[in-house]
Amino acid sequence: MLDNDIKYLTGVGPKRAEILFKELGIATFEDLLYTFPFRYIDRTKFYSIRELTPDLPYIQLRGKIIRFQEVSYGKRQKRYIAYFSDGSGVIELVFFQGLKWIQEKLKAGVEYIVFGKPTVFNGKLNLVHPEVDEPQADSHALPSALQGVYSSTEVLQNNGLGQRAFLRLQSNLLNAVLDKITENLPGYLLRQYNLMPLREALFNIHFPQSAERLLQAQYRLKFEELLYLHLGLLQVRNNRKETSRGFIFNTVGEHFNDCYRRLPFALTNAQKRVIKEIRRDMATGKQMNRLLQGDVGSGKTLAALLCMLIAADNGYQSCIMTPTEILAQQHLESIQGFLQDSAINVGLLTGSTKKKERRVLHEQLLDGSLHLLIGTHALIEDAVQFKNLGFVVIDEQHRFGVEQRARLWSKNTQPPHVLVMTATPIPRTLAMTLYGDLDVSTIDELPPGRQPIKTIHFNDSQRLRVFGFMKEQIKAGRQIYVVYPLIKESEKMDFKNLEDGYESITRAFPLPEYITAIVHGQMPAENKNFEMQRFVKGEAHIMVATSVIEVGVNVPNATVMVIESAERFGLSQLHQLRGRVGRGAEQSYCILMTDHKLSAETRKRMQLMVATNDGFKIAEADLQLRGPGDLEGTQQSGMAFHLRITDLAKDSKLLEFTRNLAEKILENDPLLSHENNERLLARLNQLHNKSKDYSVIS
Ligand code: ADP
Ligand code: MG
Repeated sequence: MLDNDIKYLTGVGPKRAEILFKELGIATFEDLLYTFPFRYIDRTKFYSIRELTPDLPYIQLRGKIIRFQEVSYGKRQKRYIAYFSDGSGVIELVFFQGLKWIQEKLKAGVEYIVFGKPTVFNGKLNLVHPEVDEPQADSHALPSALQGVYSSTEVLQNNGLGQRAFLRLQSNLLNAVLDKITENLPGYLLRQYNLMPLREALFNIHFPQSAERLLQAQYRLKFEELLYLHLGLLQVRNNRKETSRGFIFNTVGEHFNDCYRRLPFALTNAQKRVIKEIRRDMATGKQMNRLLQGDVGSGKTLAALLCMLIAADNGYQSCIMTPTEILAQQHLESIQGFLQDSAINVGLLTGSTKKKERRVLHEQLLDGSLHLLIGTHALIEDAVQFKNLGFVVIDEQHRFGVEQRARLWSKNTQPPHVLVMTATPIPRTLAMTLYGDLDVSTIDELPPGRQPIKTIHFNDSQRLRVFGFMKEQIKAGRQIYVVYPLIKESEKMDFKNLEDGYESITRAFPLPEYITAIVHGQMPAENKNFEMQRFVKGEAHIMVATSVIEVGVNVPNATVMVIESAERFGLSQLHQLRGRVGRGAEQSYCILMTDHKLSAETRKRMQLMVATNDGFKIAEADLQLRGPGDLEGTQQSGMAFHLRITDLAKDSKLLEFTRNLAEKILENDPLLSHENNERLLARLNQLHNKSKDYSVIS
């Protein structure tokens, strides 16, 4: 029954079915049933026209139409306006479609209840295609004071599928299917957590009988959605652990101890904890798939290096894959710094490695004399074969696809352990869903003695002051980044922005006193590299760039990061950019340049950047402000699941709670074969078959 084609529902039919599918992806009865209101309005509340603003959501008015007007525009296009008054003011009800029917239905002087969303047109408030009813009809039709509001589109509204019609469909649907809906949570969970039965929950989510019942329905549906999400993800993870054997590294030997003893500083507690977690994984005999997250500069690379040395102590090779040549180069330098006088042999392989060197590397990899290979995509080419690859580190994970990860796996007959490092902090709750199939380690502590970066917000009219400050810093021997936003929609405009910026910088900082380098996305890699190197080597004072420099370059002498049009960047991205400075001993600064007129939300973002250096706090705030869809990194990896009712930003407590519950359930009953869990297994299989989501992440 729930699988029925939606066209067979009373009130739908083939034409509307097509529209429902195109606009909302609704193909079956079940799809409609699980299309929930995104908010509710209190139908007992009436606004007065005088207090309306365009920020208001759907509202209700009670009053009378005082006159009509027909306006022609364009070719044969007409607009029909009803002037509606409630004594406090007059508002236009505007209709574009079905004019004939509306003209017949609406009468002046009759009391109506009008339901719609205030919008502004030509500087005046109006309601476009509102629902208009006579009061008695209205109260009669409503089973509850709370009315669900469903997401809608113009096409839906123009085809008689506005809010009122949508509610009618839901009501028809519930009449037809409600007694056939079967519970899909086991009784013991319903009892233990006091959850509303599914049938009742589905009814109340569409037609709440009271505010309290609505809350219970929402809680129950979120609970179910999240529990199955976690069960699915954990099963993928557990299956993989069952099936992928992993190399066992149980020796901690000379390579590790040598390096550890020589470190010029103590490891932070967070680094120690993370290394312990990884060591534990590597001793289980199961293949490790772990995400290592930590703010820029938190010492991830060193933690990873120490683990690679454990691999070497056990006779295995390691590699690090980075998204850019510059990063690979920098890893090489810092790793060589830690490995002075060590017997570990480190190699670098990138697109620009010469043929002859390449041949030597290939040989050393095959005979095992090269322990550690650092490189770019060049690493995954088929020609690169290891004697015994045991440990793989992938840096800045969101730049690499799952497929590339898989190709590294296949570099040995038994897959190596995989550590994915990301400097984009993700709130815990989001990591649970995005990387729910990976184990997560977090370095949440910076090495001691770092001077926090000072962040200052200026507007464009204060630019001279900023230039003055930049000159002081250059005089003191420091270097400076100036970054422009990258506008994906218009590369031309992007470039124009950058060029204008470069021009104004070179005018204010002229040769020969000042040397300015420039890097942008459309440059050939060779030129990009050349310009970058000029800055890295300290030959250029200023680096003008688009956000391409976001990915980990390390120039400790750079102490100022000027971000132009900072309002165009998301919080996480601003934080990433800021992380390019503050890497040396000197006080560093991040300067946010914006327009002086800012929206309240943007102002909040700038204030938060000024107030905190904590990447996790910022990621959390970003999640609250923008929702998970816009978060750095999530777009590329894609949410593996479509959540119908859970809000990742708001429901983090329940998310964690259900995660723990799912873990407990699977711990006691890994295959869900107990009689008690029969429903869990059945529903999980059903979800498996229904969506490809689960296979995407495995
Ligand atoms: P990440 O990769 O997390 O951005 P890195 O590993 O590059 O961070 O470390 C940043 C800098 O901090 C490096 O210069 C590194 O040598 C240094 N560092 C790492 N761990 C510590 C520590 N425990 N104490 C002091 N400095 C450290
Ligand atoms: Mg790094």
